[in-house]
Amino acid sequence: MDVAKNVNVCPRCRNTMLLYIQSENHGKSVTITYTYQCIVCKYKLVSETVEIRRDTDRMYIVRKFTKQA
Ligand SMILES: [Zn+2]
Repeated sequence: MDVAKNVNVCPRCRNTMLLYIQSENHGKSVTITYTYQCIVCKYKLVSETVEIRRDTDRMYIVRKFTKQA
């Protein structure tokens, strides 16, 4: 519970961070990036990227978690 509460707090100025979800289409693959940005100091934190890749009859989903302090 406490962990989830701290996710949206800016590590720099302790203000609220908003979650932005961006997707990039590369043709055969799609990358989805989850970025938190502080509404006050504009500090950016990429929390997770998800890559969805299509290969003839298979689909690969790669999730990457990034931790920045
Ligand atoms: Zn901030």
